[in-house]
Amino acid sequence: MSIKKVTQHPSQNEGLIFERSQTGRVGYRLPNLDVEETNLDDIIPAELRRDDDLEGVPEVSEVDVIRHFTRISTWNYSIDLGMYPLGSCTMKYNSRLNEKTARIAGFTNLHPLAPEQEAQGALKLIYDLQEDLAEITGLPGVSLQPAAGAHGEMTGVMLIRAFLDKRDGEASKDRRVMLIPDSAHGTNPASAHLAGFTVKTIKSTAEGLTDLDHLKELCEQGGIAGLMLTNPNTVGTFEKNIKAICQIIHDAGGLVYMDGANMNALVGIARPGDMGVDVIHLNLHKTFSTPHGGGGPGCGPCCCTAELEPFLPTPRVEKDGDDYKLNFNRPESIGRVKAFYGNFGMMIRALSYIYTHGAEGLKEATEAAVLNARYLAVKLADDFDKPFDSDPMHEVIFSHKKQSRKGVHTLDIAKRLIDYGFHPMTIYFPLIVEGAMLVEPTESVGRQDLDAFVEAMKDINEEAQTNPQLVIDAPHSTRIGRLDEATAARKPVLRWKPETETLSKSA
Ligand SMILES: *Cc1c(COP(=O)(O)O)cnc(C)c1O
Repeated sequence: MSIKKVTQHPSQNEGLIFERSQTGRVGYRLPNLDVEETNLDDIIPAELRRDDDLEGVPEVSEVDVIRHFTRISTWNYSIDLGMYPLGSCTMKYNSRLNEKTARIAGFTNLHPLAPEQEAQGALKLIYDLQEDLAEITGLPGVSLQPAAGAHGEMTGVMLIRAFLDKRDGEASKDRRVMLIPDSAHGTNPASAHLAGFTVKTIKSTAEGLTDLDHLKELCEQGGIAGLMLTNPNTVGTFEKNIKAICQIIHDAGGLVYMDGANMNALVGIARPGDMGVDVIHLNLHKTFSTPHGGGGPGCGPCCCTAELEPFLPTPRVEKDGDDYKLNFNRPESIGRVKAFYGNFGMMIRALSYIYTHGAEGLKEATEAAVLNARYLAVKLADDFDKPFDSDPMHEVIFSHKKQSRKGVHTLDIAKRLIDYGFHPMTIYFPLIVEGAMLVEPTESVGRQDLDAFVEAMKDINEEAQTNPQLVIDAPHSTRIGRLDEATAARKPVLRWKPETETLSKSA
């Protein structure tokens, strides 16, 4: 089946801005100088100045620039455009109010080195957010310094390391094993490794839960520093044995780290601190709605027990009467993990999210996130293989088992979803499910959007059964089809070089 591609219109075939360049074309001119020109030698040392002519910069008009970037912006799929069911990523809608508060001039114009007395409002905001996150997680020590989830993980396991070193002294070096389930996010073993631990993998049961027998067996081998556990785990299932798991680890002399990136399934309902967890990170840029994607900025707060609090990064924002202060005098601290106090803009957005919801609203958001995932789980159960029977929490996992018999695989289904106007779900993660499709609708989609998604998925299954080639060749509606992603990542072309031929043509 061939679909004719329209290649003429620029909105379907935008070149690089360099290719629009016309020698001598100018977009904007500065007015003539009305002051005397300064001798550059007095300001910038000669060795720091370029001595060649600035070449290769596109020469374009204002309208060229505006249209070029506006056209490109329409090619992006975004959270403002529609549902973004990327499991594990929690792509929820970010309320505009959060953006408005983050742009309040008193916050945006504040210098990070401003004296404490002139930054009381910002320090209070940090302090209040710490208190709220302590309440939500049931863990009293909170640092907002880490700039991402993985960064919070690293901070958390460094706390465990510092705690063990203090508790066990020399003998701590014999306690270097970090247990991690085979379903974990890849950042977990990476963080453990960075903090000097050796990773041992725990098997999952057929239900997708931590295998308790295997856990006990590994603990008996000794040297246990701790466990890193995601709950709900990455197949969307709640670890119902969490209390027993924590007990087993504590009995073995280790500490429990919980990857809290999936906290949006628990906020207002259950608290990791009450489950026996010692340290957790949160993703403000997932659970607390601040925008993410494209590499940041993010915020991955680390929350811990009172026992671990002395090791948290420095400085700490503390309250002293009515004043807020920065405490740098923390001899046991693991030190700084980020310049200044972390990504402050994320904190403003998160607190704004928490305040606009209130305690009841946060609980309702959690319930809606779980209800939405369960709705999809039930509606799609006849058409797609669901590897685990239990009801999912905030995300649901399917596999391509029913479609692969026809030669249609997860990647094909994901690409075909693009033709139906949806961003694809997370694919091939977690690795323990072959051909995994991890779908997380979040609470910010309504019934209509869920039904449209269900209909699209059912149609795709129908196509896979009756006309598999249609799905295998997808997408059909985009400007370009399937990219060679591996080559693009391994041999990226980052610099545009003029082709002499094109140049002479346009000249
Ligand atoms: C997103 C995620 C992380 C990592 O968070 P980043 O902010 O991307 O570093 C860690 N664990 C889980 C389960 C996640 O979903």
